[in-house]
Amino acid sequence: MSDPLLKVENLTKHYRLGMGYLSKSSPVVRAVEQVSFSVGAGETLCIVGESGCGKSTIARLLMRIVEPTSGRVTIDGTDITDLTANALRAWRRRMQMVFQDPYSSLNPRLTAGDIIVEPVENFSRLKRPQRQALAAELLQKVGMSPDMMRRLPSELSGGQRQRLGIARALALQPSLIIADEAVSALDVSVRAQILNLLVDLQQQMGIAYVFISHDLSVVEHIADRVAVMYLGRIVELAPCEALFAKPSHPYTEALIAAAPVPDPTRARLEPPVEGEVPSPINPPSGCAFHPRCPLAIERCRVSAPALVPIADGHVVACHVRAPASNLAVLQPSAESQPSLTPAA
Ligand code: SF4
Repeated sequence: MSDPLLKVENLTKHYRLGMGYLSKSSPVVRAVEQVSFSVGAGETLCIVGESGCGKSTIARLLMRIVEPTSGRVTIDGTDITDLTANALRAWRRRMQMVFQDPYSSLNPRLTAGDIIVEPVENFSRLKRPQRQALAAELLQKVGMSPDMMRRLPSELSGGQRQRLGIARALALQPSLIIADEAVSALDVSVRAQILNLLVDLQQQMGIAYVFISHDLSVVEHIADRVAVMYLGRIVELAPCEALFAKPSHPYTEALIAAAPVPDPTRARLEPPVEGEVPSPINPPSGCAFHPRCPLAIERCRVSAPALVPIADGHVVACHVRAPASNLAVLQPSAESQPSLTPAA
């Protein structure tokens, strides 16, 4: 199997809080803890979880909008976590981001055409006819008329603004787009159009997506694989079909059970889990899900479960559903780590 396009290894982000930023005694927010995954070319990995689980922090870490506390992010074999600002700028061509709120992510004083060509002009000066041709081509690619080139963001609808944000992301022909809740601010019908557009663009251009969402209906529509996060950690990662057909982690089951069921013939799983997500400043001991977990046993309170493979490409962190003894059965060496790389 060829190397993945994106490889994330043990990515961790801790923030120190309050006045004593430099003080070792000030509280630490453990936003992302030892997260590892990979994404192949042209693949869509969705990251799901409740608000505050760390999924948006991962988007910012991948783009190096914030710096990791530890861990590595490798794109096409190059570790971008150590690159200087200049070297990183060149690599940013390969990765672009689409944001949740298209309006606040677009410069309100620039026309749609200028917004689209702006990223390209950071790398090379374009003559006016080239600018117009590029803007027209990208507007058409995202299903908008080139006539809209002279409009300001305030003169566009929410769906058109998100299409414009996608056109801007495409301008540098990236291999990877990180979409952070990219459709959650849109009406249901517009949301479906934008999702279909992203799928079409992926098929035409071979782009990979890291798609961050709290909405399981969106995830089921677009994902090849799904990583479920709870309190900064991945607790289950699996091919999309396998995850929805047979979720294994109690938290994944609860998320799926809590999601609206559009098909009345499809049975709900178990009652949704109760209680709030604990604070990442003072996470519970052992498995962080234990205060809410209906299956918790004594071991869950004292020891954090490792991600263990339970099927091809399917890993779970749970003492009950995926006991560590599975490692010995499924892997040649009990010491080796479960593979988080997509199955060939
Ligand atoms: Fe629940 Fe224990 Fe599994 Fe955590 S390790 S999900 S507390 S059963």
